Amino acid sequence: MSEALKRLEDYETQPRHRATVLSSERITPQESDEEVRELLLEIDREDSPYEAVQNIGVLAPGDPAFGQQHHFRLYSVADRPETSETGKPRIKICVKRVDYIDSYSGERYAGRASNYLCDLRPGDTLWTTGPYGQAFEVPEHMDATLILIGSGTGIAPFRAFIKHLYKDVKNWKGRVLLFYGAKSGLEMLYQNEKNNDLAQYYDEETFEAFRALSPRPHWADPIAWDQAIAERGDELLQMLEKENTYVYVAGLEEMSEELDGVFSRLDDTRKIWRERKQALAAEGRWVELLY
Ligand SMILES: Cc1cc2nc3c(=O)[nH]c(=O)nc-3n(C[C@H](O)[C@H](O)[C@H](O)COP(=O)(O)OP(=O)(O)OC[C@H]3O[C@@H](n4cnc5c(N)ncnc54)[C@H](O)[C@@H]3O)c2cc1C
Repeated sequence: MSEALKRLEDYETQPRHRATVLSSERITPQESDEEVRELLLEIDREDSPYEAVQNIGVLAPGDPAFGQQHHFRLYSVADRPETSETGKPRIKICVKRVDYIDSYSGERYAGRASNYLCDLRPGDTLWTTGPYGQAFEVPEHMDATLILIGSGTGIAPFRAFIKHLYKDVKNWKGRVLLFYGAKSGLEMLYQNEKNNDLAQYYDEETFEAFRALSPRPHWADPIAWDQAIAERGDELLQMLEKENTYVYVAGLEEMSEELDGVFSRLDDTRKIWRERKQALAAEGRWVELLY
């Protein structure tokens, strides 16, 4: 079973490593009502097993009165890991402050782990576990085509992956098409005025980025994947015919359904598309990291 598909309770949460927050930077502009922060963590361990596209575990304090010692959550490694002068691993994670509406009471609650992480400040410490899994792999053939489709904090593993591909992988010659969905331009993580990290790859001959925004962001309309993807529909379908094309998807769970809708409109019917997607997934050519 892929790491991304495991239930949280099935993860091994030992050993645990203390981490210190070295920095916490808001990467959405103040005008945005979404707060996403990038945290740089130094992990207190001698070895450095972290790799781009893995996840780490975070143990946010629980409420022992309710029998919760902690809240265990996963976060994607959002950049190429580095090592401090003293040999300790340093990793970045990108965290969105979330709240949710309780289905019984109808009340709005702050998400435990995301708020805990977003409130941490430099010098604070936290417990971490992992790293776990590696959702997306660099294809064996260096001329493969990669179609990366992400939304919201789903860009975090892709940012690490793209950096890894262009900086560490020798002889990468394949095409990379990044489709990134966000509510509005303000929430285009790593592609906005606060942090434009991904722009450095726009000059790469093999890299292309396409944005898909919500048509009416204040009405919480879904992201308009149709426009970004359907415009290139024929080309994408032709790419999918080829053995060395891989589609990697990352973000919230509803993306899977939204993309099924878009691709089934390109590919005649939902039934045909479902079968096609299943076949791609079975060959490891359609991989999803959803939460
Ligand atoms: C493999 C994996 C990788 C993940 N990587 C990241 C990451 O890089 N960055 C990140 O912020 N979160 C990531 N998450 C989600 C993260 O683990 C938590 O679920 C999230 O931070 C909410 O936790 P919470 O305790 O604050 O709220 P919870 O009480 O657990 O959840 C509150 C609500 O928020 C929704 N939600 C969860 N995550 C998000 C999000 N990122 N954006 C919008 N709504 C959300 C949930 O569906 C739920 O309805 C990942 C999850 C998995 C399984």
